[in-house]
Amino acid sequence: MKIAKVLINTSVKSLNKVYDYLVPEKMEQDIKIGKRVLVSFGKGRSDEEAIIVKIEEKTAEELKSYNYKLKEIIEILDEVSYINESRLKLAKYISFLYFCNVYDALKLMLPPGTKSKNTKKSLNTKQNTLVKLIKNQEEIMEDIENNVITSAKHIKLLTFLMYNDYVLINDIIDGLEISRQVINTVEKNGYITLEKVDIKPDFLTEFKVSPTEPKKPTPEQEFAIDRINSYIDSNEYKQCLLFGVTGSGKTEVYLQVIKRVLEKGKRAIVLVPEISLTYQTVNRFVSRFGNNIAILHSKMTVSKRKEEYKRIKNGEVDIIIGARSAIFAPVDNLGLVIIDEEHDGSYYSQTTPKYSTKEVASYICKENNATLILGSATPEISSFYKAQAGIMDIVTMENRPGTAVMPKIEIVNMKYDRVLGNTSDISLRLKEEIKKNIDKNEQTMIFLNRRGYLSYLRCNECSYIFKCPNCDVAFVYHKTSNLLHCHYCSHVERNVHKCPCCGSENISSSTIGTQRLEEELKEIFPGVTTLRMDADTTVAKDSHQKILDKFKNENINILIGTQMISKGHDIENVTLVGILGVDTMLGMDDYLSSERAFSNISQVSGRAGRAKLPGRVLIQTNDPDNYILNAVINNSYIEFYEKEIKHRKKFGYPPFIDIVLFEISGRNFYLVKSEIDRLYNILNSENTGIYKVFNPKAPFIQKINNKFRVNIIVKTKLNTNSYNKLYEKINIFSKTKKNGVNMVVTRNPIFIG
Ligand code: ADP
Ligand code: ZN
Ligand code: ZN
Repeated sequence: MKIAKVLINTSVKSLNKVYDYLVPEKMEQDIKIGKRVLVSFGKGRSDEEAIIVKIEEKTAEELKSYNYKLKEIIEILDEVSYINESRLKLAKYISFLYFCNVYDALKLMLPPGTKSKNTKKSLNTKQNTLVKLIKNQEEIMEDIENNVITSAKHIKLLTFLMYNDYVLINDIIDGLEISRQVINTVEKNGYITLEKVDIKPDFLTEFKVSPTEPKKPTPEQEFAIDRINSYIDSNEYKQCLLFGVTGSGKTEVYLQVIKRVLEKGKRAIVLVPEISLTYQTVNRFVSRFGNNIAILHSKMTVSKRKEEYKRIKNGEVDIIIGARSAIFAPVDNLGLVIIDEEHDGSYYSQTTPKYSTKEVASYICKENNATLILGSATPEISSFYKAQAGIMDIVTMENRPGTAVMPKIEIVNMKYDRVLGNTSDISLRLKEEIKKNIDKNEQTMIFLNRRGYLSYLRCNECSYIFKCPNCDVAFVYHKTSNLLHCHYCSHVERNVHKCPCCGSENISSSTIGTQRLEEELKEIFPGVTTLRMDADTTVAKDSHQKILDKFKNENINILIGTQMISKGHDIENVTLVGILGVDTMLGMDDYLSSERAFSNISQVSGRAGRAKLPGRVLIQTNDPDNYILNAVINNSYIEFYEKEIKHRKKFGYPPFIDIVLFEISGRNFYLVKSEIDRLYNILNSENTGIYKVFNPKAPFIQKINNKFRVNIIVKTKLNTNSYNKLYEKINIFSKTKKNGVNMVVTRNPIFIG
């Protein structure tokens, strides 16, 4: 008889325990490691999903030796197994490194759309319905004003559609968290139509595939290519930082070294930050390698992603491009992994398992004797430190190809503007330069740091700031729709005319947002053409690209946007970049905030003058002597790095010390508080000084979606010894944890608070 050892998909208190089940004779043929099965587990519980991790042959004698009656597997859920021994090993590694269940780690490696049994049916029904507005904007606004439309959800859906001509119903259900029922009601009320459509099965057709030939490398590129090729030829694990200024031609280097990998009969994975923001980069790969590419990203339909997974698994493609989760694509014979814009925060998973893509990639490359390339103009401090310490190699590119030069960066001291009586958020200097650009028919990008430019609603009598009732955060005010949005729980409120605190109707919005900035520019420069790219205008599929295409093709004067406009695009006619609202970035207390500020501001600056026309950048600030800004003006990452690394060493932060963050959350404040105290005591008991436990602390946002949160930070140097100690404590706490609270543990989190 065969028995199967399985991991069960449930958060049972003892992590990662393996259970034995009998394999019925009729399943013996199909049973395989890595397949998911249904089993019954525990008394009175429903059937659970499980993954087979081992299969053993047992004699009748051996079966008798179990002191309980073995149950049979109920059903095999998968036709194909995506998990083999080496994937299991990877899952165990991830579970160990990031304090999570092996099962949670295995889920990362299953094909997309592989959900638990409850949702299994809905996966097969392809929902390809297009939602379109049939009333115009004015009519809808009127109906909102006149209380014809009153439901906040309906308003949310309709205002969203105003910015997006048409959207797939799934994108609305997932992205806006609006139910099918709500959509049906809005349809019945005559505002929208639902139209069945065939989704183009071939994702590649969405890219403009005009074949490109390799460019003749510059001397710096040639050096980089030769060096990386030598790693690839060595068939050994090598890791290298490709440290090249913005626009130095890193992408061309990637393209050429991939060619080498293919010649050797191996495969490559290319990771980019969020795909919708990096369309141009992906397009360059597709243009060079055509059909030999599979693309994986979360905005594709599930069925399309499944198809791509199959093509990869069957070895039909040699190059995989995708966002962070593509590192788990089932690739055989891997020769190279490239992580583009390696400093990007999206490479850190914010949900369990909270993994670092770079760490996982490094493990996978080691296992495969493959090369790992990290590319950036502004590497993470920890990555650059590794290069300095000789843990990885580094190749530097300091120049842009051809005649393109780095932009001239200037700091605008806003204090002078105040003295001169300018009360606008746009400085006199920036106005002057925008005017020049409009006259010369050159394009301008204006970047607003979102944190500094969210618009809040405030009572002018008692200074009350309108807050979400579920979360401890201020509402964001959207002027066109007169709606208050919560960016944490999607709660929406409407028609706010009165202060809930004092009843005053004297209410105004606190700072300008992208919308107000756009209006102001139109007032200052009558006839100017503008476009806006922010959370409002880009929820729909491909909307980023549509906006950028329009900006480029119609030679629109000014593009206004949040962080989103900083990512990988290359528009020749952009010669001026204005950066507003940096001050709130410069002064945050998170240890990574300076690094984020430097990289953000540098990346946006890098959008100017990427081709023949020289670029200029104006940064507005009240803090002109700030060291981060000064390093940006000097185009000097090294200057920034040297200050920052000293600071990290002095105050005990990564890469010198590791941080483990414990977050406890729950609806009952007192329970959360008593559990965090208990955790604190467990961590501190018999602590021989291998790690340091800090006092429990309320994070910056104390309540999200009606759940209270409290944190504990532990600082240590993570090694086997300290790690095992912490793991032990986590297990003690998990086993005794009260129902109603949740614990998440993050290793070197990118946000604390
Ligand atoms: P990065 O990825 O470093 O930001 P890109 O790869 O986007 O830089 O290159 C910037 C610009 O320079 C692009 O327009 C690209 O086509 C061009 N370019 C890159 N390499 C070369 C080369 N060897 N010769 C001419 N143009 C190049
Ligand atoms: Zn008030
Ligand atoms: Zn909320």
